[in-house]
Amino acid sequence: MIEQGPNTASTTDVPRRNWAGNVRYAARAFHRPTSTDELRRLVAGSTRLRAVGSGHSFNRFGDTDGDLVSLAGLPTAVEVDRERGQVTVSGAMRYGDLARQLHTQGYALANLASLPHISVAGAVATATHGSGQTHGNLASAAAGLELVTADGDLLRVDRDTDRFAGMVVGLGALGLVTRVTLDVVPAFELRQYVRLDLGREALDEALGSAYSVSVFTDWRTPRLREVWRKQAADQPPPSADWLGTTAAVQPRHPVLGMSPENCTPQLGEPGPWHERLPHFKLGFTPSSGDELQSEYHVPRTAAADALAALDDVAHLIAPVLLVCELRTVAADELWLSPNHRRDSFVVHFTWIDDTAAVLPVVAAVEERLAPFAPRPHWGKVFVTDPAELAARYPHYADFSTLLTDLDPKAKFHTDQLNRYFPR
Ligand SMILES: Cc1cc2nc3c(=O)[nH]c(=O)nc-3n(C[C@H](O)[C@H](O)[C@H](O)COP(=O)(O)OP(=O)(O)OC[C@H]3O[C@@H](n4cnc5c(N)ncnc54)[C@H](O)[C@@H]3O)c2cc1C
Repeated sequence: MIEQGPNTASTTDVPRRNWAGNVRYAARAFHRPTSTDELRRLVAGSTRLRAVGSGHSFNRFGDTDGDLVSLAGLPTAVEVDRERGQVTVSGAMRYGDLARQLHTQGYALANLASLPHISVAGAVATATHGSGQTHGNLASAAAGLELVTADGDLLRVDRDTDRFAGMVVGLGALGLVTRVTLDVVPAFELRQYVRLDLGREALDEALGSAYSVSVFTDWRTPRLREVWRKQAADQPPPSADWLGTTAAVQPRHPVLGMSPENCTPQLGEPGPWHERLPHFKLGFTPSSGDELQSEYHVPRTAAADALAALDDVAHLIAPVLLVCELRTVAADELWLSPNHRRDSFVVHFTWIDDTAAVLPVVAAVEERLAPFAPRPHWGKVFVTDPAELAARYPHYADFSTLLTDLDPKAKFHTDQLNRYFPR
């Protein structure tokens, strides 16, 4: 176990707004407890409260008018269980910090998101994901949780616990997650190659061609601008004419005009998993920094039809878009996972930072994708009708029951949560 000791920084370190700046938290008080006991007393004594992670989500699911609590002041720990192939970490830990420590012990996580800056508990709560058709989202690696529930009790659950599949993607509404146990795999190396100008007819093959593949496009032409292939270090590099693309000869940033210095090494240079799976480096600003995001999971088999449906609104998308990313995620069993029992094709939009201009386009995108029962990313901007969303999740009603059972007084409820899970 690596103990890093308590962090005594003050409540001024608790973010007052989210990373993107489109949500200013409405909390009446901000807290940063330095022990689990202090956290438990705080929860027991509050009538309305929420955890905040690293603040990288784009909506108000976590925006309480009561007490907002950062768990980043709790003592941190990385505890590897070699026999079980698992690591237990503090919920507030950033994936980038966890990854470095895991790697030095010879372990890896099977996948990572595009940025290493996000907290483990915040990412798991919203089913954050990377890409790769045989890899589940980051929540699917969760083998156990420790959480402070509404009455201030400490609850430990694992895969053998009744309704565990409902608790993992908990939207922050079941309790404050102090520790998460994650499955690990032996550390591995990857190489990242960027290929340019992919035809849509080759998209499916490209997405399945390597460990993790992301395709970037801008909806200005039907062609797909870039393919980021994160492949096993011992897999041969793509051939010169791979799927009709050409090789990028300089490092790239997904958003045109931004510095590739912020991005993980490309051009086939081998390196550890945690320095290739994310697109962005830990010490640098991820993405554009001045943006909104939306993302929709549809069945993997619907990829071509979903893109064709969006062609009708490409003229609306392009003017408010910084970049669009296409990824894959394997199916899982978690109740509120957008990948619940569905191998998924995922369409992500990085929008300009203009909510008024973006929301009508989000509505148009959702309307075009509706035939494919899209499940929006829980941490991003969406306008889906609650009844329609409920119909896309077989366990939606079960999750509502779980909410009531674990939080009978709706302490963790927020206005946006209440819109989707009314009490
Ligand atoms: C630049 C950028 C790139 C991104 N790339 C990806 C990507 O590649 N893939 C992807 O899927 N998503 C991506 N996201 C979205 C991001 O991963 C999610 O929004 C995720 O929730 C962020 O984690 P966080 O710690 O910042 O959570 P926060 O925004 O702080 O919180 C999110 C939710 O989790 C809850 N929560 C946080 N901590 C706890 C806790 N300890 N206990 C209980 N509940 C808690 C909060 O109450 C809230 O409801 C990206 C976001 C940005 C800004």
